[in-house]
Amino acid sequence: MALTPMMQQYKEIKKEYGDAILFFRLGDFYEMFFEDALTASRELEITLTGREGGEDGRVPMCGVPYHAADNYIARLVGKGYRVAVCDQLDPPSNRGLVRRAVVRLVTRGTVLEDQFLEPGENNFLAALLPAGGGWGLACADVSTGEMTIGELPRDGNLGYADELARLKPAEVLLPAEGADQLAAEIAGQFDALVTRLPLSAFNAERGPMLPLLRDREDLAAVPLGTRAGGALLTYLGNTLKKEYARWRLTVRGREEILLLDRASRRNLEITRSLRDGGREGTLLAVLDDTVTAMGGRLIRAWLEEPSTVVATINERLDAVEELKEASGWRRDLAVVLRQVRDLERLAARAALGQATPRDLAGLRASLRALPQLLVLLAPARSALVRKLVDEIDPLPDLLERLAALVDEPPAGVREGGLFRDGCHPEIDRLRQAAREGRGWLAGLEAGERERTGIRSLKVGYNRVFGYYLEVTKSNLDLVPDDYQRRQTLAGAERFVTPRLKEYEDMILGAQDRLAELEEEMFTALRTAAGARSEELCRTGRAVAVLDVLASLASAAVRYKYCRPSLDGGGRLHIVAGRHPVVERVLPPGRFVPNDTAMDGQRPFVLLTGPNMAGKSTYLRQVALITLMAQAGSFVPAEYADIGIVDRIFTRIGASDDLASGRSTFMVEMDECRAIVRGATEHSLLILDEVGRGTSTYDGISIAWALAEHIYGRIGARTLFSTHYHELTELAGASGPVNYTMAVQEQGEEVVFLHRVVPGKADRSYGIFVAGLAGLPKDIITRARELLARLESRTPGVQAAPAARPPGEEKLLRSLRELDLPNLTPLAALNRLNQLKELLESAD
Ligand code: ADP
Repeated sequence: MALTPMMQQYKEIKKEYGDAILFFRLGDFYEMFFEDALTASRELEITLTGREGGEDGRVPMCGVPYHAADNYIARLVGKGYRVAVCDQLDPPSNRGLVRRAVVRLVTRGTVLEDQFLEPGENNFLAALLPAGGGWGLACADVSTGEMTIGELPRDGNLGYADELARLKPAEVLLPAEGADQLAAEIAGQFDALVTRLPLSAFNAERGPMLPLLRDREDLAAVPLGTRAGGALLTYLGNTLKKEYARWRLTVRGREEILLLDRASRRNLEITRSLRDGGREGTLLAVLDDTVTAMGGRLIRAWLEEPSTVVATINERLDAVEELKEASGWRRDLAVVLRQVRDLERLAARAALGQATPRDLAGLRASLRALPQLLVLLAPARSALVRKLVDEIDPLPDLLERLAALVDEPPAGVREGGLFRDGCHPEIDRLRQAAREGRGWLAGLEAGERERTGIRSLKVGYNRVFGYYLEVTKSNLDLVPDDYQRRQTLAGAERFVTPRLKEYEDMILGAQDRLAELEEEMFTALRTAAGARSEELCRTGRAVAVLDVLASLASAAVRYKYCRPSLDGGGRLHIVAGRHPVVERVLPPGRFVPNDTAMDGQRPFVLLTGPNMAGKSTYLRQVALITLMAQAGSFVPAEYADIGIVDRIFTRIGASDDLASGRSTFMVEMDECRAIVRGATEHSLLILDEVGRGTSTYDGISIAWALAEHIYGRIGARTLFSTHYHELTELAGASGPVNYTMAVQEQGEEVVFLHRVVPGKADRSYGIFVAGLAGLPKDIITRARELLARLESRTPGVQAAPAARPPGEEKLLRSLRELDLPNLTPLAALNRLNQLKELLESAD
């Protein structure tokens, strides 16, 4: 038997979307067939059935109701599948085969709907083009309309992995040819869907980029990035099936951003904790007091990409300072800001024709809040806030149109009841007609019972016959002449009358027309909103900036931060600095503040001190204070004067990178290599315990050579902590300055004061810390004995063997070499004599 025409159509369409699950619209359902049905029924836990497929026999099938499809699609996409949504293009009719086509391909990187998205996080789609000289990288968030294009030179400081680690893209596009290795690496390291596109998509003449290229000369500087951007837009065209040209494009100028590689981001726990990648325990969690989703995304971006431009930073700091000084003002602002929904995402959905009635109601609520916001901002003086005021556009004309929507519109357009009474005469008339019809129907049952004397007569409705009058068999003789029989049931008959039909036409006609009209009006309203997406996005961005500034201001007040001063010099002066996260974890008042004083002349601090004394905390706090300042935030200190830093590098802690098969030591050396290659004299280096993962002498030597290289050749501001006390000998007129962690000893008791003081450590207190950690007493006691013995044998704490006079060395060697079992007594006596002579000659 040949394939049924419908299955033929299915197969035609499926051919083009081989790697997606095809949702095939059949009446009120989306059906899946073959492999797709098996996958979907397993993943969605829905019943697997079958359908006669002609030559294929019975084919596996499963389906979901179309009105609930979004949920199912969201679940599949969340699990990393692509879903092709195939709709019916013609109204359903009995005649012939309905035309169908895929109207959207939903993937993790191209979703727009809220059920797929985290409010405070971007959902990025990245396109990466590897080429000889480096990588072209384009990155877009379709849901907000922002796009960034840039390039990463192969010999630069950041590789694609650093950038992908920051962006955490949901989906990465790669060329299908010649990038297998890269695809495997990305799939292995990042939780992203990898989609391969033919290389031709990356080579397209600038077609897809044209609308963006028009007035962007800066794109010429990033040809690889532009090609990646072209591929990204081509892909979006194929998935969204719509044109979307309203991108807010940033062409990445590297020089304006404080660079952080992947390891440094991870180590500093800026937006993700080391423990579980979550938000708790991060700098973001301390500073983020934003009340809008847009602000939530932006504060993350500011912390992830601090600026290196003094003017930009100071502009932010001026605004934070202004907001900081007026707590009542901030409170009022927060109340109004809370009413502003995610304008960026609403605007994108409106522009792409995806906005729901509730989206537009959210837009209306947001626009309503804006005039109030402008009133509140009127007294603002700082340049940045003034600029934001200019960018906020409350779009009164659009708001007026949106007023036609009811207060709480239904979720779907088809449900009707979207518009208020009185906003359109035709809608009012149709509603009136439907109401009248229903009123007439309501009275019908009682009236007909009276007229016919049939007490059990009922009015009902079904989809096939419409409204009917139902009379039980026993009452059939009472049925009047004008009743026309329509349906016979087991115990009853159903009738209609001409009047009933008339009213039915009126009610149903009115309802249909009403639904059509409301849909038409809604589409027009959505288009009107979409046409203003640019203004909406700009307004949304301004609101986001304001939200972030207010959030930084309230953190500054709450945690007693100070305003840092910044310039292009090489200083790093911090008085009473604190670690913003650790101080929040400790009971109030327990955190011990510490100073930092570095300048161009002596930029290298060597910090020694026992474990657990607070070295790592101190190192990170200096990096975080610098980063916060350059992001535009006040900082946890009494005073901070910071010369702008171009890069922060960290080498902290030991973590095996088992996934890539590298040992702790290898990871450590790799991080050191990145530092030596990328650091400049304007960088800030944080090195915590270099050379741990190998033998002592190896470790000391590597740490020593690295330190020499950094202060001798690079000249970067550096904090270098080590438990190798030997390194303190490097200190000198031009070398490192020694600092140590203050320790108070009282008998066997040791107190770590967490205070950084000039000087060097001469003991490790390792056994003390082991005791703190709860190692059994007898082990601790024994360790103390052994330590005492070792220390008495080799004066000083250092493990280096004390030198012996050369004669003694020789003597010992001869003794060791004596082969006693093969020595005659006479020979032994002779050797003894020789040894004695050796000893005497040495003296
Ligand atoms: P180290 O790097 O020297 O081994 P850490 O920096 O890890 O030490 O600090 C150990 C613990 O000491 C931290 O968990 C923290 O609770 C506490 N600590 C560190 N610095 C301070 C400080 N400045 N004030 C108070 N407690 C501190």
